[in-house]
Amino acid sequence: MIVVMSHKATEEELQAAIQVMEQGGVKVMVSRGTENTVLGAEGNAAKVDKEKISLLPGVEKVMAVSEPYKMANRKYHPENTLIDVGGVPLGGERIGVIAGPCSVESASQIEAVAAAVKASGACALRGGAYKPRTSPYSFQGLARDGIQLLQHAREMTGMPIVTEIMSTDNIEMFEMCVDVIQVGARNMQNFDLLKQLGKTTKPILLKRGLSSTIEEWLMSAEYIMASGNPNVILCERGIRTFETYTRNTLDLSAVLAVKELSHLPVVVDPSHACGKAWMVERMSMAAVAAGADGLIIEVHNDPQNALCDGTQSLTPEAFDGLMNKLRPLAQCVGRSI
Ligand code: PEP
Ligand code: MN
Repeated sequence: MIVVMSHKATEEELQAAIQVMEQGGVKVMVSRGTENTVLGAEGNAAKVDKEKISLLPGVEKVMAVSEPYKMANRKYHPENTLIDVGGVPLGGERIGVIAGPCSVESASQIEAVAAAVKASGACALRGGAYKPRTSPYSFQGLARDGIQLLQHAREMTGMPIVTEIMSTDNIEMFEMCVDVIQVGARNMQNFDLLKQLGKTTKPILLKRGLSSTIEEWLMSAEYIMASGNPNVILCERGIRTFETYTRNTLDLSAVLAVKELSHLPVVVDPSHACGKAWMVERMSMAAVAAGADGLIIEVHNDPQNALCDGTQSLTPEAFDGLMNKLRPLAQCVGRSI
């Protein structure tokens, strides 16, 4: 962090700025130039009150020179973080593919999809029980019954289960029952939820918000980590742009950016990004080529009659075909599936 003093700043104003910086826990380096005096913060400036300094008399501007996220920052943790997803590490050489329906609909549906995606090589089963629907009249999910059906599918297949949380009320139950807790795009900045999830030990799959910048997304990861839970998996699921042909716009450059800026694993959700089943295969391949650590893909045994997101869901057969295409591709980029 750098504070540029106005050329008219008095010595008292300079000292006042230094004092506020020091209150934030940094050492201040003073550089007296011919036109402006510049104050540089040495150390972690996260706790320095930048707004207060910018309002002080004699201060011209305040500039951040390092990222506001610390625990999520690769500078402070150069090695890739591996996150244990039900015994399988995510973030290393092996690419993890999480698959399953948008929503858990019935015992027969989740059992059929779980068995199929397991046979095709998925590392974990997804399925929503608490659904964030745009319309209150749409299917809202089976709630607690849906979680029980997922647990049953886990017993049947041995696959860890990934499901979305919408309310802090359910944290204790999720911690007991599920393997990975998903925070949906709509809740990426539900700071109370993030802080409470920071008190759990479960891996958190943190989806990128509908219109969030990469920095905002990493700051949300920081909330979870700063509250005590280092197990965050980032998920790029497309962002809202002017384009309407696809449901969202898959920002694959974000995968590269996040891998550069952070040590956390990043997975890609081509299903919600595109909204069209026929695009999922090639966008999944593009994500692997871009360096994603994993994928999360919607698969339904009867997409035409799905209660949610049927248009973007692969059939189990199409998912199997996708996995067969991903294996040699992963090898080309020095990974495996
Ligand atoms: C989902 O995974 O089913 C979902 C609702 O995703 P998103 O939060 O990315 O829209
Ligand atoms: Mn969905």
